[in-house]
Amino acid sequence: MQPIPPTATILNVKIHALTNAQTLALIEQFIAGGQPRQLCTVNPEFVVTAQKDVAFRDIINGADLAMPDGIGLLKAARFLKTTPLPERVPGSDLVVRLAELSHQKGYRIYFLGAWEGVAEKAIERLRARYPKLNVAGCYAGSPALEENEAIIERILPTQPDILLVAYGAPKQDKWIARNLERLQIPVCIGVGGSFDFLAGTAKRAPKWMQNLHLEWLHRLIMQPWRWRRIWNAVVYFSWLVLRSRVGGLEIGN
Ligand code: UDP
Repeated sequence: MQPIPPTATILNVKIHALTNAQTLALIEQFIAGGQPRQLCTVNPEFVVTAQKDVAFRDIINGADLAMPDGIGLLKAARFLKTTPLPERVPGSDLVVRLAELSHQKGYRIYFLGAWEGVAEKAIERLRARYPKLNVAGCYAGSPALEENEAIIERILPTQPDILLVAYGAPKQDKWIARNLERLQIPVCIGVGGSFDFLAGTAKRAPKWMQNLHLEWLHRLIMQPWRWRRIWNAVVYFSWLVLRSRVGGLEIGN
């Protein structure tokens, strides 16, 4: 049995100190256990959003696993001297690994979200690598409340082991929290823009930029209209972390 690792607390948000390998082992354990579980792929932008959106913060803090998807979180954990986070567990890499697991072990995966046709394209590309990928279903839909019931009824009969929800945060995580008990799916994960990366409709930063921790710069160049989100994830997040440590020191002394 793989134990659930301890959490780091960054600006009141709890993130599990997980490696990619531990995440996969726990996911297999969850599937074997059969209880419904919610997993979040947390990045610095989530933490910024969670400062004002308490419902979102409660969802992350109550998640069965909150994976550290963002180098900024690893640095912040070190700086704040909370539980160290060993490595990044990026959502889009996780989806590829889950496709591989499905190919090997037959786990059924449902792909929910992203714009029309994107998940289909992502599946096609994953199938080229993992021909026995077991797709329970795929639907774009929308996180709007009016569509909730119809989506549940569409997913329920397909009985997936894993549900990937690509509606972006916090919508995807709220969608999962709202529907977890009804769905009774052992692994439900919010995966953000992963289907876009896998389908090729959005490009991930080249490896050298990832290694230099410049994924945010790549995003800024490719999607300049997201500047405010990137600002929040990079600059505002760092400022909040810095301020929290200074505040913490003042209280401590
Ligand atoms: N999306 C969607 N329906 C919505 C809002 C978003 O399907 O109503 C999808 C969108 O197509 C994209 C994903 O949600 O695939 C969110 O992507 P984003 O890049 O914002 O996510 P991030 O990885 O930054 O959390």
